[in-house]
Amino acid sequence: MIITDTHTHLYSEAFDQDRDAMMQRAIAAGVKRFFVPAIDSTYTKAMLQLKIDYPEYVFLMAGLHPTHVKNTFKDELKHVQEVLNKHTVVAVGEIGIDLYWDKTTLGIQQDAFVHQIQLAKKHKLPIVIHCREAFNEVFEILEQEQGNDLFGIFHCFTGTIAQAHKAISYNMALGIGGVVTFKNGDIDQFLNTIDLKHIVLETDAPYLAPVPYRGKRNESCYIANVLKKMSDIYTISEEKIAEITTQNSKTIFGI
Ligand SMILES: [Zn+2]
Repeated sequence: MIITDTHTHLYSEAFDQDRDAMMQRAIAAGVKRFFVPAIDSTYTKAMLQLKIDYPEYVFLMAGLHPTHVKNTFKDELKHVQEVLNKHTVVAVGEIGIDLYWDKTTLGIQQDAFVHQIQLAKKHKLPIVIHCREAFNEVFEILEQEQGNDLFGIFHCFTGTIAQAHKAISYNMALGIGGVVTFKNGDIDQFLNTIDLKHIVLETDAPYLAPVPYRGKRNESCYIANVLKKMSDIYTISEEKIAEITTQNSKTIFGI
């Protein structure tokens, strides 16, 4: 069985003490494909090192995370462009809008999101969207940018069924992670009405650990707990869910 973690911050400082052991635990658990979203330029060196250390397992993205869109964002966007030009990158992410941490930067978050969608289109790459308390604002931009050249993943999807259908209508797969195991997570109530062809699995490690690790440091091997919950929700074997969601990740990332 091959499990694909479509969203894991393997370069995080949270893994500095035991990164290799963490990777080996995940690989032993069947996680053989790790898709690594960017945050900002300060992490690029560590990301490139990961690709050197685990070349056959790790795939990198380039992007500026919405909570890191500050007054330096124009330089950061130039850096994203440089990474796209110089290195092998499979997606532009994570990008989007976050109004939970800071509402005052909405204007520049919108500018950075649109700019990075256009970079993805130019490089024929998928986008990986981060959306927190900003569904309307994110959908407004997807509406304006939609087309055959816009596709990707709505990472850590936690919306309603209507928002799920809307995201899918813009060629976005839903990234499902630890939240699906939470008692108050709600998406488990309707998820089985969404065709598995629109679903990919993720951890968002080191954040959002699934039950029974909720609140602790998350790591990619815990995707097994997400997989088990998905198997319960869809009443389909874990092997089949891993197979379908891995295939979906291949279609999206082209690798
Ligand atoms: Zn993330």
